[in-house]
Formats: sequence, structure tokens, C-alpha cells
Amino acid sequence: MEVNCEGCAGCCLDWRELLEDGAEPDTRDAGDGADADWRHRRRDPFDGGEDATPSRDPLDDDPSFVPLTRDEVRAFLENGMGDALTPRFWHVRGESKEPRASDTSSGESPREGDSVEIDGRNVAAIADRPAFFVGLRKPPKPVAPFGREEPTWLPTCVFLDPTTLQCRIHGDDLYPDECGAYPEHNLALEHETECERVEAAFGGDRLRDAEHGDPDGLLLGSQAIGAKLFCHPRPADLEGIVDRAAAGELRREDRAEPVAVAAASSPGTLAISEHHYEQAKSRLLEDGESDEASESASSDGESWVGPAICDWHRRCREAGETVPAPELADTVEGDRGAPETPGWDDLE
Ligand code: SF4
Repeated sequence: MEVNCEGCAGCCLDWRELLEDGAEPDTRDAGDGADADWRHRRRDPFDGGEDATPSRDPLDDDPSFVPLTRDEVRAFLENGMGDALTPRFWHVRGESKEPRASDTSSGESPREGDSVEIDGRNVAAIADRPAFFVGLRKPPKPVAPFGREEPTWLPTCVFLDPTTLQCRIHGDDLYPDECGAYPEHNLALEHETECERVEAAFGGDRLRDAEHGDPDGLLLGSQAIGAKLFCHPRPADLEGIVDRAAAGELRREDRAEPVAVAAASSPGTLAISEHHYEQAKSRLLEDGESDEASESASSDGESWVGPAICDWHRRCREAGETVPAPELADTVEGDRGAPETPGWDDLE
């Protein structure tokens, strides 16, 4: 497999807004009635069938969510980067938990225990426990991918350097397995890759060679439980959080609840370690308060991540129609201690 990532980062940001600037959306394999917006999403193993609208849609609107493993969640917490993490829940289509003959949306219908009602929504569950991923947040950053001359504010991975469009933690112990395996996972599952979507919309040669081996770490089915797909043992503790996840308004204490459960999970089981849960939750909430202003100070006193995310949100809100140069990241991220990226010149 060979990919050409220079000037792209299509799998690290949400570039759908650029399609409104004149590029054609990729609908090459969309069937009748298929939701083109869903087709843009990175494939995740909790979706329904490829040829139909899935029975479960994420509550959030991130098309390139990077699911982290339990050990990766713990590593981010140990490095004081809990502010980088956010949960993903799914909405189950259909009003009844009982299988319905008329429900042909994915070939599988919600069954007893497959969903739990929280905040008036049917949330996907396993054995009556709300299921979720933990991934990386995408604050708005000024970026100019795909050879564009002018930057645009786009939801962009907290770790993407907007000036080089390179990952700040590439090669670091914290670099997520999923990022290293993408797009190989999609190729192995015979699903379209983000590289191909970018090619279809903006041209260029991104996926240069689709030959690949058998990727490790797919973690499908029951292997994923407690390792990459987490289950909350107390659905009532998610009241309010589910509504704010759907509205894109999660607060630090909202994120802390599911992230602490993920850190306390045990691969292959539904078990949660109360000790690890309490430890992770207090680490996530250390010095934290609920209002956004408090996020202008680091929650852990040392990481650049939380203050930079807050600063990007504030600058985007106050910018109006103005889009600053990507080099603003030197101030927002670099001056706070974010690792530099090498640029492309020495990588040729
Ligand atoms: S961690 Fe790095 S490679 Fe992964 S999505 Fe973020 S910027 Fe991209």
C-alpha cells in the first residue's frame, strides 16, 4: 500500500464544507436513497451493512472519528492530555426494541438490550449498557488542504499542525494505532478510503497502490468490547450528556464520565474497575470547572492540548468571516508546547 499524504490530511479533518465551494461530492457507489453524508464517514465496525443505510448513526457529526483503544485512552490521561478525548455514542433507528418485519434498513433490527433510552433517544447498547467509542476532538483550525490557496476554518484533529498538515504525534508513543492502520483497515474490509474520496472530489493521486497485507488491530465483534468499544454500566449517569453529545455541546465533566469508564474497562469483558474509574475521573476533572472560560487554563497544569482547543474555539467564534493564516498555530499550539512537525522537504 502506498499513499500520498502531502498537502492532504483528508482523514484528519472534516472537509465536507469545501464541497459547498464547488467540488462535487463523491457519490460513486451510493445506492438509491443512500445518504451521501453517511458515505463520507470513515467506516466504523458498529455501523450497519455497506449497501444500506446503517441502523445506527453516530450522535456526533464527525466523519473521520478515530477510535482509540483502552490502553491509548490511559496513555493520553497519563500524559495529561485528557482534554483531547471525546466519546461517540450511536442512535438506534426505530422506535421499538422488538424486531419489526417492516424494518429493512440494514437487515438487522434492534433487539432487546441493543438500545437504552436516554434523554428521549434510543442509544445503542450492549446488554443494556450504552456503547461508545473514545476518540480525538476536532476544534476549528484555519487549514488549506488539497492545494487550496486560501485557508478555511474546518474541524481539525487536535494533533494536526495546520501549517504543514502533518500529525504532531506521528512516530510518538501516543500515535493511535487506528491512524497508523488507516486506510489499510478500509481496504481490508473492501470499503472506500478517504484517499479515494479526496481524489474524487479534488483530483490528484492519493491512493497510489492499494495492495496491502492483513492489518492487525481490526478488533471487530466481541473482541472490541472493553478494548475499543466501551459499555457504560450506569446509563442514568449519561442523562444530559447524550443530549449535549448530539448537540455538539459536551463539557469537560461530560466527557470525563465516559472517558473514565473507557479507562477502567477490561478487554473482552463488560467489567469496570472502580479504582481505575475514580482515578481517571479525578485526573480528568483535576482543577476543572464546567464553564468554558475555565478551559483557558490547562486542566492538568502542563499540557498544551486543553488551552489550545479552547483558544481555537474562541478565535473562530470571534473571527466572523475572517480566516487567519494557518501559521496562527505557532501561537495557539506551538507557544504552548505542542511538538513541531518536520515539513515535507526532508521526507521526499
Ligand atoms: S492523531 Fe494525527 S494522524 Fe491521527 S487523526 Fe489526529 S492528526 Fe491525523
